[in-house]
Amino acid sequence: MGRMQDKVCLVTGGASGIGLATTKAFAREGGIVVLADLDEAAGREVVGGLGEPASFLALDVTDEAAWETGIAQVVARYGRLDVLVNNAGILSGTDVVSTTMEEWRRVMAVNADGPFLGCKHAVAAMAEVGGGSIVNVASMASYSGAPPLVAYAASKAVVRSLTQTTAVYCMDQRNGVRCNSVHPGPIATPMTGLQSGQELPGLGAAGAPEDVANGILYLASDEARHVNGTALVIDNAITAR
Ligand code: NAP
Repeated sequence: MGRMQDKVCLVTGGASGIGLATTKAFAREGGIVVLADLDEAAGREVVGGLGEPASFLALDVTDEAAWETGIAQVVARYGRLDVLVNNAGILSGTDVVSTTMEEWRRVMAVNADGPFLGCKHAVAAMAEVGGGSIVNVASMASYSGAPPLVAYAASKAVVRSLTQTTAVYCMDQRNGVRCNSVHPGPIATPMTGLQSGQELPGLGAAGAPEDVANGILYLASDEARHVNGTALVIDNAITAR
């Protein structure tokens, strides 16, 4: 029995980086992976490698109608939704003075609206089958000032708060849904262009996508059945300093 045996797991942004490592970890542990992404070609290639019963879902996380249709399709095909990983995200590198409203809204749409819509529609679907687990991918930038990342850091602070409020709501409802967040430091993915183990001044070595996927796997699994509303920082002591 794998740690995710027969669990139906939807991973947004699953074609690249941390999302890709997460889809592979879930599949290795017996999960039924639904890989959701904008990048259909890359997503379908990954799904082909995972084999049946994995599938691809074209999903722009900013589109509420697409969330409704997508989750309905998952439930129609597999009978339920057990796990959602709100992982899709974009980086933006501008400071508070130079950031335009257009850029602010672009980042918030993907990084904040996306996880909100995912939580909103997944909680309802999971509650119908007695529960589930949502893992939101935030960032160490949720916690501190990050001058060149004003919109990005603010969007990740939204994810931290959204996670806590969703967890408390679900506990009050006794609907069996848990909601937790992970907060990575610098990780070697296409988003950052870093190499795993690359030394960064003052920050130590960049992590690998698998370092984050392992934390997501724990929170998504039944091993974390009493863990709800927590924030798991995966940054090799950067925020502890
Ligand atoms: P990545 O390699 O760029 O992967 C992100 C994935 O999300 C891509 O496949 C991308 O598709 C997809 N995506 C972007 N916008 C989307 C949308 N509107 N709807 C659906 N999918 C969308 O990035 P990553 O580094 O793995 O990041 C994953 C998550 O970890 C993000 O939330 C990021 O903020 C967070 N994080 C990363 C780091 C880090 O150092 N890498 C640190 C802290 C937190 P396209 O390629 O087609 O755009």
